[in-house]
Amino acid sequence: MGEPDDSGRFGRFGGRFVPETLVPACQELEQGFREAWSDDSFRREFEDLLQNYAGRPSPMTECSNLSNELGVRILLKREDLNHTGSHKINNVLGQTLLAKRMGKNRIVAETGAGQHGVATATAAAYFGQECVVYMGEVDVRRQALNVYRMELLGAEVRTAMSGSRTLKDAVNEAMRDWVASVESSYYCLGSVMGPHPYPWMVREFHRVLGEEALAQSKTMLNGDVPDVVVACVGGGSNAIGIFSGFVDTRSELVGVEPAGGAAVGRAVPGVVHGSLSYLMQDEFGQVNEAQSVSAGLDYPGVGPEHSHLADIGRARYEAVTDRQVLDAFSLLSRSEGIIPALEPSHALAWVVRCKAELQGKTVLINLSGRGDKDVAQVQAIQAGDPLALETVDFSTELEGS
Ligand SMILES: *Cc1c(COP(=O)(O)O)cnc(C)c1O
Repeated sequence: MGEPDDSGRFGRFGGRFVPETLVPACQELEQGFREAWSDDSFRREFEDLLQNYAGRPSPMTECSNLSNELGVRILLKREDLNHTGSHKINNVLGQTLLAKRMGKNRIVAETGAGQHGVATATAAAYFGQECVVYMGEVDVRRQALNVYRMELLGAEVRTAMSGSRTLKDAVNEAMRDWVASVESSYYCLGSVMGPHPYPWMVREFHRVLGEEALAQSKTMLNGDVPDVVVACVGGGSNAIGIFSGFVDTRSELVGVEPAGGAAVGRAVPGVVHGSLSYLMQDEFGQVNEAQSVSAGLDYPGVGPEHSHLADIGRARYEAVTDRQVLDAFSLLSRSEGIIPALEPSHALAWVVRCKAELQGKTVLINLSGRGDKDVAQVQAIQAGDPLALETVDFSTELEGS
């Protein structure tokens, strides 16, 4: 996967659709990243952090029980075993290290479910940086434990009260803070989205995931690669990370979105948070709220490079329902002793649904995170708790499933 063009585009997607006031901040960041990324000492420091702080490389696990049950050979890339429990640590270590190099000691971030906020607060604590995390008021209430975690890690959580008081409002407020304090502040964005250079930079920080997975697959498959590589897609960072290792191989690439947030599935381009990509919007161009059982995938858009990969037919994007996701969550726990996060349960849910067409094939699933954070929610859903049931949509059925 190469660089975007000079205007930050992947094909017709991406770019830098921001107010005049944000342009210099984006340019300064682009220059800072370019210099850092071509500097061997920065690369070495990043690799050292990934290894000795985050615990990389993460292993690849062969799932014999599940493979027998499905008739599909299943391999898992174990991002759930990283420090803080997901792939997110790669990106935040890269960005906070860059902030340090750029002489910025205050980190600003947005968070939806709280996972990116916790990861950013973790890295900021490690580097001794001040950390301010914006979070929608609705999410602050839903994710009280993550708010406490961030505070424990020394971050200040600021409640975003505008709009729908969820992730997209938190992004807006974080960007506003960044412009107002760009001399001292660094904006640590959580996925492969936003204005150029974020989609490209965040992909580069997650590239390690795909590189490891390619080497591990070759070892495990006698020099071959999996027939299919599948990952869940919220903004798309874990998916782009693993895809980057396989885009030049014969592996088919599949991104899985929640049925209630299928931005690529609906194929309507628009601008959200500074870049042109596929997103969920109504007939008047208003951005729709995404809805799914997994708060980590509740984002109405998808990173621009995914829109491009869909456009050129190199990756395809599928959707699964909340019911299928909860079934997959239980299945992996029971069959392999691995409790997955609800997000990567989407990827497994797609494999289960398509097992007939996948018979005899080898499928690599990116297990982007562990399920500890989701256990209480799933328990409450299964117990029929009315508040927990509000987080699921059991009414959506997909054609042919
Ligand atoms: C945040 C998160 C995601 C969604 O973000 P992407 O940028 O689409 O990867 C997926 N899985 C886990 C475990 C997460 O924490």
